[in-house]
Amino acid sequence: NKSLVWFRRDLRAYDHAALHHALTASGQVYCVFIYDTTILAPLPRDDRRVSFIHASIAELDAELREMGGALLVRHADPVEAIPALAAELGVDAVFTNNDYEPGAIARDGAVAARLKADGRAFHGYKDQVIFEKDEVLTLAAQPFSVFTPYKNAWLKRLAAQPDSLDPFDIAPHASGFAPPLPWTALPTLAELGFDPADTHVATGMDGAAAMFDGFLERIEQYATARDFPAVAGTSSLSVHLRFGTISIRHLVRTVQAMLGYGGGGAGAPVWLSELIWREFYAMILYRHPHVGERSFKPAYDAIEWESGPDADELFAAWCEGRTGYPLVDAAMAQINQTGFMHNRLRMVTASFLVKDLGIDWRWGERYFALKLIDYDMASNTGGWQWAASTGCDAQPYFRIFNPVTQSERFDPDGEFIRRYVPQLASMGRKQIHAPWLHERKGAARDYPAPIVAHDEARKKTLARFDVVKAAA
Ligand code: FAD
Repeated sequence: NKSLVWFRRDLRAYDHAALHHALTASGQVYCVFIYDTTILAPLPRDDRRVSFIHASIAELDAELREMGGALLVRHADPVEAIPALAAELGVDAVFTNNDYEPGAIARDGAVAARLKADGRAFHGYKDQVIFEKDEVLTLAAQPFSVFTPYKNAWLKRLAAQPDSLDPFDIAPHASGFAPPLPWTALPTLAELGFDPADTHVATGMDGAAAMFDGFLERIEQYATARDFPAVAGTSSLSVHLRFGTISIRHLVRTVQAMLGYGGGGAGAPVWLSELIWREFYAMILYRHPHVGERSFKPAYDAIEWESGPDADELFAAWCEGRTGYPLVDAAMAQINQTGFMHNRLRMVTASFLVKDLGIDWRWGERYFALKLIDYDMASNTGGWQWAASTGCDAQPYFRIFNPVTQSERFDPDGEFIRRYVPQLASMGRKQIHAPWLHERKGAARDYPAPIVAHDEARKKTLARFDVVKAAA
């Protein structure tokens, strides 16, 4: 029997659940990746994610060819293309790894229905997380909405089921790959309608593995270094987790082994916790798909955000990094120039947009979705709703980051600010966080004045959130 493995956010040729199950169940396994026209059509020509995927696909195809297979690639709407390809190849079943975003669930449902109508099966597997859907529940069999008890239950489940980390072998089953078809050339970026863009991060499985090796040398310092954007304190693996160019099981197994022999210092358990946050938000989106559009806590939908031309102008200043708050502007320059933003700065800029400018978190969420190379609907809406206080286990609404204090604490020498706002390079380490309070020289004189006064904005925000006081 024949089968087709449909790759999506799992662009690797090792430890791959769907590929493993297809190879062990069928004699001839084809592999396909679809550049989804419904996703790609609205993107700008220089979208970094498309370049990342394109490079990673070339590597995946090469790896599959080494094992005797190959990757078929299409540029189409998968709801049409998967059933059509399945019919063309005469496969009995399509194997794929689960995706928990509401749009993906609807798409997969449509594909499965069409396949079924043709007498073919559709199999989905857990692959991008250690525990999915309802696998981690409260004692009352309810989904968690607070992180720490979720994390404790997650760790307990892993201790009870250590085989959750077992790799899904591919190479030993390579005899199941169908030989490459003659018409399998990969499309160029230009053929897909895109220009090459700088990903600012190594691509593919090899890139991910090298980055993880590099991070393991620094993991001991993670607990302290992770909060300082000028330092390479974090792993930068988010894009690889997003596109599956690294295996989450491999990451967790490595950290667990390290913890087992007392390695990894204070950093390893904190890093593991971050990987669990990722699963927490994936579970939240799966159980509460409305969080992509509306507040997790319905009472917070009553908040009235700023609107009209003034709000549009404030939003544009935020997007373009000209708020007059150096750390916020440096962070926005980072996302605009590189497609990445440090976690501390995601919190600072999100808080600033919502609680200093009074703008709806969804505007910021959409902007990040457009720019971030690691954009992930679950983590992005989770992070935004955390910062906006509208989410589950969110920052309380009365806790409002002071953008100057954050700058003094987390970029004490102004090193990050100088890197991304070179206009302020001449300011001293004490003055750079609030330039408007100090005498300025040269280019620094043209740096914009703050677009809002933080203290006034703070008061307005507390009043704005009055509508949710009862529910908070
Ligand atoms: P590390 O510190 O090395 O962490 C390791 C991995 O753990 C990350 O790669 C990521 O997969 C996961 N992780 C870490 N922190 C979080 C977190 N708070 N929530 C969920 N997962 C986490 N992360 C995304 O992957 N995509 C997004 O679109 C995204 N949007 C965000 C928006 C806001 C407003 C905020 C506050 C956070 C957002 N995050 C998002 C989470 C976090 O900022 C990034 O995952 C992290 O900065 C990526 O850098 P890293 O790989 O070096 O992380």
